Amino acid sequence: MNTTDRILEIESLTKIYGKGSTKTEALKGISFEVLEGEFLGIMGASGSGKTTLLNCIATMIKPSSGKVVLRGQDISGFRGAKLANYRGKEIGYLFQEFELLDNLTAEENISLPMALHGVTAKAAKADILKWASMLDIADVLDKFPAQMSGGQKQRVAAARALISNPEVVLADEPTGSLDSKNSKILMEKLAEVNRKQHKTILMVTHDANAASYCSRILFIQDGSVFHELRRSLEKENRAAFYERIVAVMAQLGGGSANVL
Ligand code: ADP
Ligand code: MG
Repeated sequence: MNTTDRILEIESLTKIYGKGSTKTEALKGISFEVLEGEFLGIMGASGSGKTTLLNCIATMIKPSSGKVVLRGQDISGFRGAKLANYRGKEIGYLFQEFELLDNLTAEENISLPMALHGVTAKAAKADILKWASMLDIADVLDKFPAQMSGGQKQRVAAARALISNPEVVLADEPTGSLDSKNSKILMEKLAEVNRKQHKTILMVTHDANAASYCSRILFIQDGSVFHELRRSLEKENRAAFYERIVAVMAQLGGGSANVL
């Protein structure tokens, strides 16, 4: 493998919350790589450290030890403008609960990251329209979050995560608050963004169906990787990949309840 294929390297990452009797080791030296253009899924039981992992990558929390390396650069060394640029432009974040601002329209929510980086609404307009069309939210751009369905809100949040053309999109249970119909729409859109716009996506999920859109899945347990599944997009259809995911989930500790 060519090193330029690696967009993100997670090296022996640990995170310990609290001290003494309240100490929790959320990440226990997890290591893996994310390749450019990959749609990587991370699956694991509730409490297995998935959100902690994404938050370390996004610099929302600081790991206790280990490294997050973006294109060969250790992000812990980023300060000032470089750190702001990393958070605002190189990483896009999609949350389970959308996290839209209620008093802004969809368009204003989407353009907020651009505004924070000094791009005028006018200059951002072409990009907003491009992503709105791709994500099928062009007709809600003037609406406020309260006037949108959950599915529309999540696709607006996806546009906001993509608008600054980030290197990597991090998604934490993005279908977790959606019904099955809207989950399917969102996953189809994310898969299209991955394929057609060559966006690298790192998605955490509980949901085997959502995970079946990925090209590779890492299963984490107790803060480290214990299994990996890869899908050849040409050779294996989504339904077959889904069956393999469910089989791994079922093997773990005697039932999928352990992963779900
Ligand atoms: P997941 O997203 O896989 O459900 P999390 O990363 O949220 O897992 O949590 C991993 C572990 O760390 C859990 O045991 C959780 O209770 C603990 N944890 C998460 N955030 C904190 C925090 N801010 N303070 C203390 N413990 C935390
Ligand atoms: Mg979580």
